[in-house]
Amino acid sequence: MTKQNSTSIVKNSSQEVAADIIRNKPEYVKNSTFDIFSYVKSLSDVELKIEPLCDDISGYIEKVGDKFVIVVNSLQSPLRQRFTLAHEFGHYSLHKADLEGKHQDTVLFRDANEDSLGIEYAANDFAAELLIPKESFEDAIKSGKNTPKQLSNLFQVTEKAILYRAYKLGIIKSFPN
Ligand SMILES: [Zn+2]
Repeated sequence: MTKQNSTSIVKNSSQEVAADIIRNKPEYVKNSTFDIFSYVKSLSDVELKIEPLCDDISGYIEKVGDKFVIVVNSLQSPLRQRFTLAHEFGHYSLHKADLEGKHQDTVLFRDANEDSLGIEYAANDFAAELLIPKESFEDAIKSGKNTPKQLSNLFQVTEKAILYRAYKLGIIKSFPN
């Protein structure tokens, strides 16, 4: 029997949480995209705000009383906003018991080439599975949609998010930081 290392356990569990959400909420899946904005708006303990933030901030999640406020930078592209929201929602889904005060995110794919157990990697892996599910992604590539541009259009995420996903799934060997 081979021993699974702890890194892959954390990575798998964050992706499994995301996969469960898609399985349980098929009404939010349209074509190949998960409507993350509508889904998060439907949650009673999360308040979603889309508003202008500083250039270098993608978004943040803040615990206010018993609720969580997620803010996404409206000045960034709609495709980036989707991943930012999925990432912040990942912090809610994976780490809400540990969240205190405000957790702010700048560059989401920083140090993507480093292996880490950190919550940022878990939130990114969660977001990647939610918006670019492994099976759909591999099916799309098999069907001939294999350029970052085509896959970005299909999954409604940035080309950088597509490259991150391809890197994390071992389809490409390095991630261009
Ligand atoms: Zn984060």
